[in-house]
Amino acid sequence: MRIIDLSCPVDAAAWEPDPVVHKVLTPAQGAAHMASEMKEHFGIDFDPAVLPGGELLSLDTFTLTSHTGTHVDAPAHYGSAAVTEYGEPRTIDELPLDWFLRPAVVLDLQDQPTGAAGVPVLEAEIARIGYVPRPMDIVVLHTGAWRYAGTQRYFTDFTGLTGDAVDYLLDLGVKVIGTDAFSLDAPFGDMIRRYQESGDRGVLWPAHFAGRRREYCQIERLHNLDALPAPHGFRLSCLPAKLAGSGAGWTRAVALIGD
Ligand SMILES: [Zn+2]
Repeated sequence: MRIIDLSCPVDAAAWEPDPVVHKVLTPAQGAAHMASEMKEHFGIDFDPAVLPGGELLSLDTFTLTSHTGTHVDAPAHYGSAAVTEYGEPRTIDELPLDWFLRPAVVLDLQDQPTGAAGVPVLEAEIARIGYVPRPMDIVVLHTGAWRYAGTQRYFTDFTGLTGDAVDYLLDLGVKVIGTDAFSLDAPFGDMIRRYQESGDRGVLWPAHFAGRRREYCQIERLHNLDALPAPHGFRLSCLPAKLAGSGAGWTRAVALIGD
């Protein structure tokens, strides 16, 4: 079996709308920290110099949102029970794990302009690859946006889906839709502009809000999609981190090629 990494790094040096903070306690600092904690809490004197090289263990503290890096959105992200049509929306820790390790199919949307792609675009791509997504398959949209990850352009130039396009995939029995873009909806600025021009509230977050009518998950910020050898014939694993009560969880998304 071959494993292909489809995840982007969580990197404090990269540009993010919500900057990531990464604090490092070095192994030497860890030794001094442990010694002072032992003294303070237990009254024990411990000389860190007795440790090999005077070092103990490092500790990394990250400050980041659950939507930073490659992650899975849970229904609770889309709205509260006040607006969902299927009862209390589940948080990321409550979803069945077998949604997240499934055969996958990639739809190539790299020729689509910034905005929201509709049903005809998906139908044409499904016809081109000759594979109709089956129930529980994970559908991955390759928009090409992953190449701009870490830059401001990643948040302004990409293709999302219309609400009808999401419904089309959910009608096939799909429960997880992934994208390499920042969002499964069109970029924020593009949606607001189209709303102001048309006065149509339906252009605002239709892909996310489809999840208020029907329970499904999104993978956002997939990466490295060029590395996939074919649009189908592989499994995708995107088991999310078990963040209790969270509307999303980070995942190390990978493609599994072969048995
Ligand atoms: Zn998200």
